Amino acid sequence: MKKIGIIICARYQSCGGGKCFRSIRERVGAFARYPKDEPVEVVGYSYCGGCPGGNIEYVPEEMIKNGAEVIHLATGLVVGYPPCPYIRQFKEFIEKRYGVPVVIGTHPS
Ligand code: SF4
Repeated sequence: MKKIGIIICARYQSCGGGKCFRSIRERVGAFARYPKDEPVEVVGYSYCGGCPGGNIEYVPEEMIKNGAEVIHLATGLVVGYPPCPYIRQFKEFIEKRYGVPVVIGTHPS
C-alpha cells in the first residue's frame, strides 16, 4: 500500500480530480511508478492556496499525519500557462521540512 497526497494549482481549484484519480487506477503518467499490484491510497487532496503557494507550508503536514509517504504536485502546475514559477521551491521545501519525497506530476499531460 502506497499512501500519497496530491496538491493542485489554485488556478484549477474547482477541479474534481477526475484525471488524477483515473490515472492512479490506470497507473499512467506519474503514477506509472507504482506497481499495479500495489494499492495506492490518496490520503489528502488540496490546492496550493493561490500564488505564491502559502498552503504548501502547512497542508503536507496534514497529509503526512494521515500517512502520506509521497506528495505529488499535480500536472496542472507544469502544463498550465504560465507554468508555476515555484515548483522547484515547493519540492525543495516539502522534502526538507517534511522529509517525504515530492513527485512533480500526476496525470499525463
Ligand atoms: S502558479 Fe503555482 S503558486 Fe500560483 S496558484 Fe498555481 S501552483 Fe499555486
